[in-house]
Amino acid sequence: MIEPAELKPAVTISYNPANGEKIGETPVDTLDDLKDAINLARKAQKTWAAKSYSERKKYLLKIRDYIVENADNLSEIISLDSGKTLVDALSTEVLPVTMAINYYAKNAGKLLKRHYIKPGNILLINKRAYVDRVPYGVIGIISPWNYPFAIPFHEIAMALITGNTVILKAASQTQEVSKAITRCVRAANLPEGVFTNLNLPGKLAGNGFVDLGVDKIFFTGSVEVGKQLMAKCAENLTPLSLELGGKDAMIVLEDADLDRAVAGALWAGFSNTGQSCAGVERIFVQSSIYEKFSEKLKFEIKKLKFGSNKKFSSDIGTLTTESQLLKVREHVNDAIEKGASIFSANDNVGEKNGYSHAPVLVENVNNDMLIQFEETFGPVLTLKKFEKVEEAIAEANNSNLGLTASIWTKNHSEGKNIASKIQAGTVTINDHLMSHGLAETPWGGFKQSGPGRTHGYIGLEEMTQPQCIVNDILPGVKKNMWWYPHNQDVFNGLKDAMKFLYGKNLGEKAGAIPGLLKVFLRTFRKDN
Ligand code: NAP
Repeated sequence: MIEPAELKPAVTISYNPANGEKIGETPVDTLDDLKDAINLARKAQKTWAAKSYSERKKYLLKIRDYIVENADNLSEIISLDSGKTLVDALSTEVLPVTMAINYYAKNAGKLLKRHYIKPGNILLINKRAYVDRVPYGVIGIISPWNYPFAIPFHEIAMALITGNTVILKAASQTQEVSKAITRCVRAANLPEGVFTNLNLPGKLAGNGFVDLGVDKIFFTGSVEVGKQLMAKCAENLTPLSLELGGKDAMIVLEDADLDRAVAGALWAGFSNTGQSCAGVERIFVQSSIYEKFSEKLKFEIKKLKFGSNKKFSSDIGTLTTESQLLKVREHVNDAIEKGASIFSANDNVGEKNGYSHAPVLVENVNNDMLIQFEETFGPVLTLKKFEKVEEAIAEANNSNLGLTASIWTKNHSEGKNIASKIQAGTVTINDHLMSHGLAETPWGGFKQSGPGRTHGYIGLEEMTQPQCIVNDILPGVKKNMWWYPHNQDVFNGLKDAMKFLYGKNLGEKAGAIPGLLKVFLRTFRKDN
């Protein structure tokens, strides 16, 4: 049940994490608003689902066009609200969202087309089946602050194109971006109730979605909240997709292109100030190239400017929240206390009252350090050497999380071979993190990074339920072989059917034919 104490009307104030300046405020919605939104969404869904894919596509492409036309303004809002740089905002949020909307709009109909099923054996040849993908109905989306535009927008696009209506509850921390999403969607003039964005406190939204009966929830966020929400959903078996944390490993083999590997580690470790569920956190480097790799990485880290999200003055922005800054400091300090060595950039170009943290490389790490087993979610990379590939695989898999990972080598078949031994939802070869932006590939983790899949054809399937239609094609069939009345002949005939299909040899199969025929022929008779 929803506690009255959770129903507190207020406003959410947004600040720029780079300098603490207030940038806006958003009224907090209530449980009654959620109730109204769900009722409206449920009514709207029937007409929305009745439209064809190509009709819905037209709406979605209007959203895409609006985003393209307003890319500067949207990148600015994302940057101000989250602390990330303008380049991060455009490259990892605005651009991928346009590609995703375009992809889902143009491909969902084909990817989810009716699937015809061939009869599984000759005895059931009369039965013909197909599977249609049916929208769930009203989809509730709960999203985090780290990619406040891209994460919810992928799911909004997948939900809408498949004929669902949507209630979005985005992170309280990034409500300015959330309002920008509403403006983008409004540009399509969707029918009333097809999309509603509410500013609700997290627990109120989660409990409300379940108690008020949305048809499926897509949650992206922490493992801790994911577990709470799963327990809540168990109350009425609300379907739930969970996209949770990561502790990604990058494995660098001795034949890797070192320049590319170093550049990739920098981007996938420090992009979005390291606050990426699938950012590189742990690097494992083969011992023969360890020193060279470490030197190159330090050389590149030294060149990084960090701490500001103002107009192209830095490579790395700030963290988004104070608690995230404190967590990063805690992890780094814990590592230092336990014997790690630290290397960091020192070109802090930001205003000094923001949540900035220097990009850091941590060496001499061991598995007792928080930084090796808890998600840090900050601009911190750890570096550890390995001798044999098996060691690196074991290290990479030594985590309760398994979102993504990467292998860096010039030997692509060896890369793929190692990838198949990694317990992660996505493994990239000579790249990392970017596959969230590939709308065509499924996204989701192993172990406690999941369970749930979004994006790609699996993501579209997750927005729909399979409905199987089974039809008889032969005219004049009065009943199935196993229908009433039952007697020993029916029993024996069915046993013969089994022998006919799966008998050990031709003799056994042939011997079963008379009994089978007897039971088969009763399908054309009205009595017995
Ligand atoms: P979070 O604290 O779990 O919050 C995520 C969302 O859940 C927010 O909108 C939050 O609302 C809401 N929420 C809070 N309590 C809730 C409850 N009891 N029931 C339902 N919803 C609730 O996570 P975060 O700190 O924002 O995000 C960082 C985490 O997300 C990291 O662990 C990161 O790895 C993970 N993540 C995973 C992926 C992925 O694709 N696998 C992608 C991005 C991030 P309020 O803002 O109102 O509290």
